Amino acid sequence: MKWTRFFIPTAKEVPTDAVVPSHQLMLRAGMIRQVASGSYSYLPLGYRALRKVEAIIREEMTGAGAIELHMPALHPIEWWEQTGRVEAMGDVLLGLRGSQDDWRTRTVLGPTHEEVITEHARAYLNSYKQLPITLYQIQTKFRGEARPKSGVLRTREFDMKDAYSFHSKIEGKDGLNETYDRMYLAYCRIFSRCGLPYVPVQAESGPIGGDASHEFMVPTDAGEDFLVKSEDGSYAANLERAEVAPLPGTGGRGSEELKEIHTPGHATIEEVTTFLGCTPDRMIKTIIYKADEKPLIALVRGDHEVNEAKLARVAGVSGVEAAESDMIQEVTGANVGFAGPVGLENVRIITDQAVTIIKDAVTGANKTDYHLTGVNIGRDYEAKEVADIRNAVEGDLAPNGSPLSFLKCIEVGHVFKLGTKYSEAMEANYIDEDGKGKPLIMGCYGIGVNRIMASVIETCHDDNGIIWPASVAPFTVVICALDTREEEVVKTAEMIHDELEKAGVDVLLDDRDARPGFKFKDADLIGFPIRINVGKRGLADGVVEIKNRKTDQMDKIPPADAPVYVNKLVKALTPKADR
Ligand code: ATP
Ligand code: MG
Repeated sequence: MKWTRFFIPTAKEVPTDAVVPSHQLMLRAGMIRQVASGSYSYLPLGYRALRKVEAIIREEMTGAGAIELHMPALHPIEWWEQTGRVEAMGDVLLGLRGSQDDWRTRTVLGPTHEEVITEHARAYLNSYKQLPITLYQIQTKFRGEARPKSGVLRTREFDMKDAYSFHSKIEGKDGLNETYDRMYLAYCRIFSRCGLPYVPVQAESGPIGGDASHEFMVPTDAGEDFLVKSEDGSYAANLERAEVAPLPGTGGRGSEELKEIHTPGHATIEEVTTFLGCTPDRMIKTIIYKADEKPLIALVRGDHEVNEAKLARVAGVSGVEAAESDMIQEVTGANVGFAGPVGLENVRIITDQAVTIIKDAVTGANKTDYHLTGVNIGRDYEAKEVADIRNAVEGDLAPNGSPLSFLKCIEVGHVFKLGTKYSEAMEANYIDEDGKGKPLIMGCYGIGVNRIMASVIETCHDDNGIIWPASVAPFTVVICALDTREEEVVKTAEMIHDELEKAGVDVLLDDRDARPGFKFKDADLIGFPIRINVGKRGLADGVVEIKNRKTDQMDKIPPADAPVYVNKLVKALTPKADR
């Protein structure tokens, strides 16, 4: 391919709202163009990289035994109603504009495809003999993301590889666990082949519990998630899931007596600690939730945050939500901001372990405008249910005692043991060996294709531009013909180009009539892994220059040897699967 016949609208300036490197560099390298907030066109160069990521995903899905199909973006809302996800998705689920009886009002744009695939499974997978099976697609998803961000890292329209597996059992040969493990490995292979540094972490698990869900995280400042890792490397989880070791210490009496203090208008932790001159870690934060229509109280230390996923898991409920003020009034007899464990009865209270070791604590008095000081466990209140229900913080230890550290990251993939959530809701049953009808057991496995591409750039760039791993570079090699008016230069550049193309290497010939420095700048910005300089001076010495974008290493090779040399170099530079 010749540069002058291709389409690479590189730019010097980028809009000020492009703050993360992948966004800036993709714009500058002429790879994407914004169409609307959260929706982008992929220009030819960007699309080539995206297709390479897709190709790796396809190869690995095939390797893992998954079969490709393609489902539409337009879904009947009925199926979403059957699984109760119209409410669960809220504004994320996008619809079409139409009058009341119009078909448009009964159609949604798929943010994911559990409903559609489960309907297909219901139609076709009727016998245990057809199981297990894994189906996948690479397809466009639509999500009403409130805040599209960071270029193509978070958009409202994006490409996902989503796979779904169907089983008659969880354990053993052909069970869900076996496929899950195989998909997990395929994900490791995909990310490593894309040259991405990734960390699989335990994620919030669904109905199956245990380690039923993993996310694949890429550590980068552009990310919006946190991953929590133990120093010894044996534990990694996302913040939502991360467990902490109990804090050292025991409960018991402090030295103070229980005292009620008038704290008019001081309801927040900050207000109360300032007013009383104590530190937040002396306070017991008392939060009233609603779970299954009943109140549920969580006690955490004043400087800690309740982890609602953990709380729900401990409480054995599907989810918790903040209670409304009248429920809070009813439970505590006070306005919001004055709740505390002392004297609270006939309501379920779950106490975080860190609370149980506070002596002479401060907390709300269950009386508007009053707090209690000198609150001690055992004497003033009991903790019937103690558990880990808070977010890990700096300084915490992993369950095995190793210190935890926090890394900003972005989620690139997610594997999930769904169980029978969707098959039960949609009555997707099969006939088992024993002749009985049973709901299909399911797993689902998602990867963000665009997000992989942008994450690669986040982790592989320098001040001059992108440094593509050879596996996903839009072109692996650029040949800079440095003196395009010299016949010898043009002939040599074309010879190397044609030879490489014949050998199956993706090569771009920069045949523009421009200064070398200008061409080098563009080449570095776009980030071709290998650059070949063909110039008059080099040819006079009988060589062309071959430059490695990542290491800056420059080799001088006779032109006739260049194609073979470069072909070898491409292979050496292509990241291998790590498993
Ligand atoms: P996030 O927590 O980042 O919003 P998610 O948990 O909603 O992601 P999943 O439903 O698990 O995402 O989707 C599978 C994959 O699709 C994610 O791992 C991610 O790579 C990608 N993805 C999800 N949302 C977006 C988006 N708005 N833009 C681009 N890629 C996305
Ligand atoms: Mg996810």
